[in-house]
Amino acid sequence: MPANRPSKLLLEIAPVWAKDIYRDDLPDKRIGQLESKEDCLIGESYGFDAGYGVDTIDPTMSSEFCKTCNNYGYKIWDHALRGGLREDMGRARRAAEAFTRHFDRVHRKKKGAAS
Ligand SMILES: [Zn+2]
Repeated sequence: MPANRPSKLLLEIAPVWAKDIYRDDLPDKRIGQLESKEDCLIGESYGFDAGYGVDTIDPTMSSEFCKTCNNYGYKIWDHALRGGLREDMGRARRAAEAFTRHFDRVHRKKKGAAS
């Protein structure tokens, strides 16, 4: 049985989206933002930087391309877009939670390297 509230990890990584993705009445405008690499849940995790989704070296982006993150971004948007359907928002939430575990494991490691 999936939880109906964001995990601690999701709240830490993307606090704004953590709350919104668990809403059953997510506004269309907000769902539209899931299509934006910068404004979506993954983008928020990177500090609203879209570099994880750009498969070329772009000096204006601070994050590096990550195919896995990019795929999660697409998945979450795709599920949420089918929208209104509880079942699909559940899938979007599960993808969001799975993403945070990937992000925590792969992209936050460096921070803790000093300890
Ligand atoms: Zn990644």
